[in-house]
Amino acid sequence: MTTQTCAACDCELDANPIKVKIGGKTVEVCCEECAQKLKEAHASAQEQG
Ligand SMILES: [Zn+2]
Repeated sequence: MTTQTCAACDCELDANPIKVKIGGKTVEVCCEECAQKLKEAHASAQEQG
């Protein structure tokens, strides 16, 4: 058994994680703030080519 953790801050997820789609795959985060962080990180990575 693996514990699901937030893709942004690595804290443990509860029963209702937030799902966010990044680069075609879905990841789960603990809160809206972490979802936003991942989206921004992905967007800036694309800008750099
Ligand atoms: Zn988080």
